[in-house]
Amino acid sequence: MENTQKPVFVMCYCTGECPGFQSLNLWQLVNRVRNEMGVEFAIVHPQLCVEDGERFWKFAGKPGVKYLVGGCDPRMQRKMYKDALDEVGVDFDAQITAIDLRNMQTEEAIAKVKETLAQMSA
Ligand code: SF4
Repeated sequence: MENTQKPVFVMCYCTGECPGFQSLNLWQLVNRVRNEMGVEFAIVHPQLCVEDGERFWKFAGKPGVKYLVGGCDPRMQRKMYKDALDEVGVDFDAQITAIDLRNMQTEEAIAKVKETLAQMSA
């Protein structure tokens, strides 16, 4: 069966204590993405790179679905939770688009998410 689901936006907020996100209005970002950018839904996770982040992916990771994940350096994200995704049949390189949203103002982060979603659907 063909998967027609739109991309899912996952925001990893790095516990809420990371200095890299101090200029970001998290809820403004998430609400703009879910209301304006045609995603299936948007969700916030506090820390994808620890055990409950892996459990989140094992619960929410679905073959065929595309995920846009805002957080830290994409290489770091890949290293930290690729194995958990492998376990549920999700191919990080094919299904995850990880973007670094640290050290951005809210509007800058919103623009980056929008631009990346446009690239994903091109
Ligand atoms: S995956 Fe990156 S952004 Fe998310 S909690 Fe870990 S270090 Fe922070």
